[in-house]
Amino acid sequence: MQFQGKVALVTGASRGIGRAVAVHLAREGATVFCTSTKAGGCADTLAAIAALPSGTPAQALVVDVADAASVEALAKDVLERAGRLDFLVNNAGITRDGLFLRMSGDDFDAVLGTNLRGAFFVCKAFARAMAKARGGRIVNIGSVVGLTGNAGQANYAASKAGLIGLSKSLAQELASRGITVNVVAPGFIATDMTSVLTEEVKTAMLAQIPLQRFGEPEDVAKVVSFLCSDAAAYVTGQTLVVDGGMTM
Ligand code: NAP
Repeated sequence: MQFQGKVALVTGASRGIGRAVAVHLAREGATVFCTSTKAGGCADTLAAIAALPSGTPAQALVVDVADAASVEALAKDVLERAGRLDFLVNNAGITRDGLFLRMSGDDFDAVLGTNLRGAFFVCKAFARAMAKARGGRIVNIGSVVGLTGNAGQANYAASKAGLIGLSKSLAQELASRGITVNVVAPGFIATDMTSVLTEEVKTAMLAQIPLQRFGEPEDVAKVVSFLCSDAAAYVTGQTLVVDGGMTM
């Protein structure tokens, strides 16, 4: 229960990695605000948290991170209800894969709009309150693709590489206020996002993973939890890769 009394926000907590992060932080005692773009989208996450033997009840909120007004409303709501925010986890993300020569401007903008501009809006909406409290942790969920690039994912790779630059800049600007900003870069994690890949692609990817398994959302959640913990008090501006050794 190391996070008792702490308040966390996890964007995109309706399923996958975001849900695992929300449940993990709640299990450690944090009050977690979970978001989805749909009302009722986080019902299963809230039920999982309610079923924990220990833990604090979570709350669900609706936000489209790509929409600045929606993010402003979210921040107002969270800060009115909780009065503070200790942990901000920017997890919401989408893919619109396609080969570069066929990629439309709309597909590029949609992915950058959610994955990068969305994280920018959310950080901006909460940074002042966190700075005023002189402490907090921001964890942005990137991807190994932001480090390596990936054929068919020019938009996604650009968004995740941009997230690293955004995070390092924020880490420098917010350090004097006691706020750390880090990126967790997962490799292949078994979620809805990767379930659309063909068996052929999955088999080829598995062959490149030294630890010989796909990651589970909990593998990422544990590292996010570490970055929120006192153990990571002196860690900022870093990108922590969680990929079973795939890109070493
Ligand atoms: P997922 O299962 O597809 O879940 C995506 C989450 O993002 C959902 O909760 C969704 O909410 C939310 N979301 C999407 N667009 C949004 C928007 N405009 N505003 C607010 N929320 C929005 O994805 P995942 O696999 O768990 O991935 C989570 C994060 O990890 C993403 O940033 C992804 O890029 C990153 N990642 C994943 C992998 C992987 O292998 N799975 C690898 C590297 C990085 P709704 O309920 O509204 O749909």
